[in-house]
Amino acid sequence: MSRLRFDVVQDAFKKKAVSVDIPAEKVSEYFGELVFNRDKMQKYLDAKTFERLVNCIDNGGALDRKTADLVAAGMKTWALEHGVTHVTHWFQPLTEGTAEKHDSFMEYDGKGGMIESFDGKSLVQQEPDASSFPNGGIRATFEARGYTAWDPTSPVFIQDDTLCIPTVFISYTGEALDYKTPLKKSIKAVTEAALPICKLFNPKVKKVFSYLGWEQEYFLVDEDLFAARPDLMLSGRTLMGHAASKNQQLDDHYFGAIPSRVAAFMRDIEIAGYKLGIPLKTRHNEVAPNQFELAPIYGEANLANDQNQMMMNVMNTVARKHGFVVLFHEKPFEGINGSGKHNNWSLGTDTGTPLLAPGKDANGNLQFVTFFVNVLAAVQKHNSLLKASVGSATNEHRLGGGEAPPAIVSAFLGKTMTDVLRKLLTVPSDTPIEIAGKKGASVGLVEIPEIFLDNTDRNRTSPFAFTGNRFEFRAVGASANCAGAMTTLNSAVAEQLLDFKQAVDAGMASGKAMNIAVMDCLKPIIKSVLDVVCFDGNGYCEKWKTEAARRGLDVETNVPKLFKAFTGKESVDMFSRLGVFSEVELQARNEVKWETYSKKVQIEARVVGRMSINHIIPAALEYQTKLLKNIDLMRASFPDDYKSMADTQMGIVREISTLVSDIKSKVDAMIGERIKANVITDEYKKALAYHEIGRSLLEIRKSLDQLEEIVDDDMWPLPKYREILFIN
Ligand code: ADP
Ligand code: MG
Repeated sequence: MSRLRFDVVQDAFKKKAVSVDIPAEKVSEYFGELVFNRDKMQKYLDAKTFERLVNCIDNGGALDRKTADLVAAGMKTWALEHGVTHVTHWFQPLTEGTAEKHDSFMEYDGKGGMIESFDGKSLVQQEPDASSFPNGGIRATFEARGYTAWDPTSPVFIQDDTLCIPTVFISYTGEALDYKTPLKKSIKAVTEAALPICKLFNPKVKKVFSYLGWEQEYFLVDEDLFAARPDLMLSGRTLMGHAASKNQQLDDHYFGAIPSRVAAFMRDIEIAGYKLGIPLKTRHNEVAPNQFELAPIYGEANLANDQNQMMMNVMNTVARKHGFVVLFHEKPFEGINGSGKHNNWSLGTDTGTPLLAPGKDANGNLQFVTFFVNVLAAVQKHNSLLKASVGSATNEHRLGGGEAPPAIVSAFLGKTMTDVLRKLLTVPSDTPIEIAGKKGASVGLVEIPEIFLDNTDRNRTSPFAFTGNRFEFRAVGASANCAGAMTTLNSAVAEQLLDFKQAVDAGMASGKAMNIAVMDCLKPIIKSVLDVVCFDGNGYCEKWKTEAARRGLDVETNVPKLFKAFTGKESVDMFSRLGVFSEVELQARNEVKWETYSKKVQIEARVVGRMSINHIIPAALEYQTKLLKNIDLMRASFPDDYKSMADTQMGIVREISTLVSDIKSKVDAMIGERIKANVITDEYKKALAYHEIGRSLLEIRKSLDQLEEIVDDDMWPLPKYREILFIN
């Protein structure tokens, strides 16, 4: 066993970078090559069809059957030129990750042969037999019909030999069974709520957009070492393993030189991403050893989220070519940072005005402050819900674990904006908010520095930070579908904007000028958010927990309990008012969340039990036997002094016995708890029971890791942290 480990580690260390096929053309020439974007539409569709499709994409509405047939025909021609043979409706069920069922283009031609066929009906709608996707009891399995429907706002793309059609996934009774449907509804809600407010400042605005820029963190592990760790294979993280002597304490990995095997992998995924039209921008080493990050230029939220899902798929596939496995798990290794997926979020108008960045004049600045403050109010009101939206069995190990995010959703503004807000409370409501320096000395004026973006200070401990032209929701987990968090944030902001607009309208109806009505409405909100949700201090320190609780922010860390926020009155009212989720959908989705939570912990518990009994205890006993043999030989050779001479060995023998029996009894107790938990029928209560079982795994782990420190390295059956984390 130990030889195997040694060989695997040696081989992994010696692996060289895989060579990458770099296209001869510039990136700009092959960017979007595998996407049926507007260029392709124009080329492969007649002018009328093109116009109808673009209208449907830009302004919503359904495609008539005839147009759909023409669009499908154009897509088919394009796809066949790329050697495509299959087509799939690509959707995002509640399992996380994406789902696809491939159908070939082949149909009988009626003359004894076959023909490639793809019509509008198969483009627009399909009925996957989706009974086994999680649905929280919305559909009993005997009426398993759900359907997928094309989302024309997200372009069709080619993956290998398959034409992928991004779709929503809905039950026949109309409930969403996926992530995309509610995300799209929330985008509609927030952009429509923002529009009338924008019109107060600029009547020319016709449309508002919701933007997302994700930053994907991940770990790479050599695939042979991965395969030697049952815990990584089955749960995506290490469930045991003592910290290496060196980990991230020297800060030498962050932004360090990218190892050559990893650099080759990054180049390869970038090429694949560019072909899929994903505007990848940033790549770098992260804080922890073997941890990296990838980020594109931000884009429209629904498309950006699809692209994140596409990219995660690409990364999984391309990694194997390079002898790696990608870990998206939020906490694959104890004692070093875990992986998040910062969601950079903002709103902007069709006139090109960002709504979360200072404007060009006092009018623009008031618009900025209006949106800025309303976002804070939304985050304050729904802070429990926002935390719930990022909760999962895997992200639970990050939440409250001394790394972004703390399990309290507060907002970081930075000194500049905090000062601006404080100042606004002290001046008359018609005081213009100027760009600094424009009006000379600043006495009595409210000013925003002109160069703003680079001035905003950073606070890595805040889960929701303002970073100059956007908010960065940092609590999202690396493995999550961004839609969970984005749907919640969009909805919370939409509700707040609707209420705010009503209040402003009332003010204006009573004769106030627009800017005064707006500022009069903003002032009490500013006072409240500064007192409650805004926090620029260290989010990791203990004092903040007490302070946050005093302020009325949610400090709960138990993930199954967090999910309750989704069905609380305020959430149900908000989601149903906006048409994003019905109460039935919220309940159903919570059932899915609890069930998934329990299953994930159950898998981990089984793995820990089996690895303890089948891997670790046998290794410990083998070493113990070796020591006992040594003691026997000591006694034979030195009958008079062996007791003092073999004192150390005897001590280790005893220590092993204590740890082994401790592990065995804890594993037995944990199995007993599982037996009890498994018969609980209420998913919430079951998840609570599994939450406790999850805690007990940490206790077992402590003893396992102590054994790792004692047992002969040669006999240790699992690759150790030092071996997994420093292979490049
Ligand atoms: P940082 O290290 O500052 O977090 P990164 O470059 O890693 O920055 O990622 C920042 C992400 O935020 C990118 O995806 C970027 O395109 C995105 N972003 C920048 N401006 C906006 C904006 N106004 N709205 C949404 N996302 C934005
Ligand atoms: Mg970053």
